[in-house]
Amino acid sequence: MNSRESTSPDVIVIGGGPAGSTVSTLLAQGGRRVRLFERERFPRFHIGESLIPETYWVLERLNMLPKMRASHFVQKHSVQFVNSMGKLSAPFYFWDNKPHECSQTWQVVRSEFDQMMLDNAREHGVDVHEATRVIDVLMEDGRAVGVRVKREDGTTEEVRASVVVDASGQNGLLMNRLRLRVWDPVLNKGAIWTYWEGAYRDTGRDEGATIVIQTADKRGWFWYIPLHNNIVSVGVVAPFDYLFKNRGSYPDTYAEEVERCPSVKERVSSARRVTGHFATKDYSYRSKQVAGDGWVLVGDAFGFLDPLYSSGVLLALKSGQLAAEAILDGLERGDTSAAQLGRWGESFNEGVDRMRRLVCEYYDGFSFGAFMKTYPDLRGTVTDLLIGDLFNTRVDKVWPPLETMYEPGKAAIPSWRAGTDADLATDKHNELVLPDGRRP
Ligand SMILES: Cc1cc2nc3c(=O)[nH]c(=O)nc-3n(C[C@H](O)[C@H](O)[C@H](O)COP(=O)(O)OP(=O)(O)OC[C@H]3O[C@@H](n4cnc5c(N)ncnc54)[C@H](O)[C@@H]3O)c2cc1C
Repeated sequence: MNSRESTSPDVIVIGGGPAGSTVSTLLAQGGRRVRLFERERFPRFHIGESLIPETYWVLERLNMLPKMRASHFVQKHSVQFVNSMGKLSAPFYFWDNKPHECSQTWQVVRSEFDQMMLDNAREHGVDVHEATRVIDVLMEDGRAVGVRVKREDGTTEEVRASVVVDASGQNGLLMNRLRLRVWDPVLNKGAIWTYWEGAYRDTGRDEGATIVIQTADKRGWFWYIPLHNNIVSVGVVAPFDYLFKNRGSYPDTYAEEVERCPSVKERVSSARRVTGHFATKDYSYRSKQVAGDGWVLVGDAFGFLDPLYSSGVLLALKSGQLAAEAILDGLERGDTSAAQLGRWGESFNEGVDRMRRLVCEYYDGFSFGAFMKTYPDLRGTVTDLLIGDLFNTRVDKVWPPLETMYEPGKAAIPSWRAGTDADLATDKHNELVLPDGRRP
């Protein structure tokens, strides 16, 4: 045991994904002793490859930008939408809206990006333990006081700290234990994806664009994300029942969906599939509470939003940053109450709600092409939403014009709060299925 391990940490972080790496790096920068437990050994597979520009500001604080610039990740300058008729709308170029280097972002292979983020946390002094699973959060008088961990060799240990941050992703350790998960009332999707070598790639500043391609029957959409080494990630997202009930195997269903979507079919027609098929249930959810006394949730352990606009990593980074600020301030003042640790939760959720509304509008028939034709002056505001500039009211001016384009009788979109508690929805849980059938 080294000297750093023998002293109790100030903060324990559960999980070494983008949210866990972010919160722990910023806490270490603030002079706090941080111990992070990650159940896997990195690099490990993860989905979520397309970043959006607002990640820039958090990556800058983490000192990650030089590493990102030196990486081989594909540069992304825009997002493009292809409608169900196969028509490409004018791309949303981030630079045209905000001429600043933050407008160039990246398409990342997550096993590599997450490894870089975790290594960066180590470089900032975070005490990282891989292959160490947190099996319980220790509670005393309703306050989190530490965790129990299990190592690869089967040994267990209790570690105590002033604050426990749950960044365990969709596993949602504390959310499950405290029954805090609320399923989104409308975003009940599933996804199947694979990786292609030699698929169609645009050129110039369009080479790294994310393309969102609506399926012909408008039931779902494909993501088309160009990665390095001439690989493209191509996945289909559609209502869970449609994609997984009374259908064949994942490869068969995927092939059927590609067949029904000419814009994808032609882009992969001369490509070679280089992996098997991955699948996941993709139900959106949110925790009823962001924090309790001595604990706080970040990233997917706090909430997960449908991946239509690639917002997941941004929300992981942003919540990690906001939680770190609240913890540093709280430790300084000796206040690790729920109110202090979760002070950022409400305004954060307001930002997520803006993205969620745009997601729901798309599934309800919103057309970027038609909207931009009717309201060209709002292109900048729509782009603000797409880059993840979600945490201000300025972007709300887009909603009234958008409502003028509703079909007659279209009902308003129900809010998160109208969702279903996890314990009332026993049919729901999100889980990844790898090509070999494993569920990690
Ligand atoms: C189909 C799909 C497509 C997506 N596409 C995009 C996209 O294009 N762009 C984007 O930004 N986002 C995307 N996302 C979302 C993105 O994957 C997540 O939002 C993001 O990974 C959240 O980061 P996180 O750090 O909160 O969680 P994770 O990245 O899941 O990290 C959690 C970590 O905690 C560890 N862990 C779990 N339990 C324990 C435990 N008990 N003890 C110790 N460690 C534990 C896990 O091993 C994991 O490494 C997509 C998601 C899906 C499902």
